[in-house]
Amino acid sequence: MTELKGKAESGWRLENSYARLPELFFSSLDLSPVRRPELIILNHSLAESLGLNVHDLQSKKGVAILAGNQIPDGSLPIAQAYAGHQFGYFTVLGDGRAMLIGEQITPEGERVDIQLKGSGRTPYSRHADGRAALGPMLREYIISEAMHALGIATTRSLAVVTTGELIVRETELPGAILTRVAGSHLRVGTFQYATNLGTVEDLRALADYTLQRHFSDNNIGENPYLFLLEETIRRQADLIAKWQLVGFIHGVMNTDNMTISGETIDYGPCAFMDTYDPKTVFSSIDVYGRYAYNNQPYIGLWNLARFAETLLPLLHDDKEQAIKLSQDAIKEFIKLYNHNWLSGMRAKLGIFDEEPEDRAFMEELLGIMHKYSADYTNTFLALTFDEFEDTALFESVEFSGWYDSWQNRLGRQEESKDLSHELMKDSNPALIPRNHRVEAALEAAEEQEDYSVMERFLDALSNPYAHSPEQAEYSELPEPTSRPYRTFCGT
Ligand code: AMP
Ligand code: MG
Repeated sequence: MTELKGKAESGWRLENSYARLPELFFSSLDLSPVRRPELIILNHSLAESLGLNVHDLQSKKGVAILAGNQIPDGSLPIAQAYAGHQFGYFTVLGDGRAMLIGEQITPEGERVDIQLKGSGRTPYSRHADGRAALGPMLREYIISEAMHALGIATTRSLAVVTTGELIVRETELPGAILTRVAGSHLRVGTFQYATNLGTVEDLRALADYTLQRHFSDNNIGENPYLFLLEETIRRQADLIAKWQLVGFIHGVMNTDNMTISGETIDYGPCAFMDTYDPKTVFSSIDVYGRYAYNNQPYIGLWNLARFAETLLPLLHDDKEQAIKLSQDAIKEFIKLYNHNWLSGMRAKLGIFDEEPEDRAFMEELLGIMHKYSADYTNTFLALTFDEFEDTALFESVEFSGWYDSWQNRLGRQEESKDLSHELMKDSNPALIPRNHRVEAALEAAEEQEDYSVMERFLDALSNPYAHSPEQAEYSELPEPTSRPYRTFCGT
């Protein structure tokens, strides 16, 4: 099915399949042009993989497109409607500060959403301005690209432009627009919207669209809607285990921020943990720790239960049967999550085979890391390279006991210590986007318009398993401080 095509030289090849869903799912948008767009950062390798011409994107017209001042041929700008449980409370939402300019068909034939975030008011903006500030958009760029390089499914960042306009927050800040690239923006909250505001036929149209968009290669089986539920559960069990294994805290796991594609979305208050503490919370508004590190798998489960509820009318004509099917599917989540976490943790410890005591053995390590306030990432790096600094953890009797049992554990498997070392290098990143480094990059960008700090950082983050000498500086820990790191939503 071919729709309007972009000019060959710029590489835009947009379609608008989402806009063929019933009208309740979106609003067509007028552009809100900005005063003086300026390109701050462009992701060359992503642009190329999308089939976009990097030179053209940097031209006046290219930047005008990234700022929402012009639309490329084939674009039909819309804002998507959705709902969601925010901190447990149901709310009707929608893209309040984003517009989907279309779906780019890549040279590989994939379909990805191209969305401008911070592009101005929409029918879903409520009382807010529809805009975004430069700092948070660069922050999303850095962390989402770091996540991608860590091998974690995520929305990507194509570019950030400044708008030449100031936006009002606690102070006046430079406005910016991020171009977000996503497998889709279908969310658990999109299904909640369909169930609460639409008919069963609307819901079915959405489910069929989702199946077509994300699951058409899979063996869907007899009950496609059950398959949709099971596959979403499987993807989230994979995703959240990966978050836990690198110490990523999403911070705002509302159901509107959980994708059906299995990509991490919404880089507002997220951050990586330095010191290992399972109760870590960074988000300034998460006062009860609902989205704390150790709660993430349970919140994933809770969100998926909300997803399952939306699908009940499609799962079976008989309500009892539908509930039974959904409950059985949901039960799988914890099993899948545990399996993924265990196998990921085995790899982090250089273990190839399985022993029944593995979980207890891993929990023992995490317990002593917590007791001695050890850095999460650097502890695994030290184990990988067998190089231990004089930290409280490594000097403790508990660690030395654990280390001996680890060595015995490695000795009981067939694979050599060299192979274990290689597995550990591939499973333990040399660096993560540490908060103090992210802040330093943003400060240079925002205060001095110096983007070189961020560019060097992005370069180091682009291959976290390289363990190259240039990456070493990024494993340095922040200066000790009594002020906990705090992050913010929707800024
Ligand atoms: P978030 O916390 O980023 O998931 O956002 C929750 C909702 O608030 C979404 O519907 C956003 O589109 C909306 N939102 C966040 N910031 C703004 C803003 N500056 N203007 C309009 N809507 C916003
Ligand atoms: Mg959101």
